[in-house]
Amino acid sequence: MTQHRKNPIAKEIALERIEILFDQAYNNRTDPAFANRYVMLAREIAMCRRLRMPRVYRRFFCHSCHVYFVPGNNLRVRVQHGKVISTCKVCGAVVRIPIKH
Ligand SMILES: [Zn+2]
Repeated sequence: MTQHRKNPIAKEIALERIEILFDQAYNNRTDPAFANRYVMLAREIAMCRRLRMPRVYRRFFCHSCHVYFVPGNNLRVRVQHGKVISTCKVCGAVVRIPIKH
């Protein structure tokens, strides 16, 4: 496990792989079985390499049931009281993110 933390190139490669997996998930967004599998693999890489999921990809999947979000299909986005409210239609998890001024 220690070698994971010491090697900076391993981190770069892991981030690149996460990027590729989310690209693939987007390309297969009509097929939830594939899209969800790519999200799972990306999460596994991040956890194995002890990385935070890059900020860009954090809103792309449900943090409760790990499905890939397709807005309008399995994700509801509403703006209320100065917050963006995202509801997962699969498990019902709600995320409220304040809007910055
Ligand atoms: Zn969910």
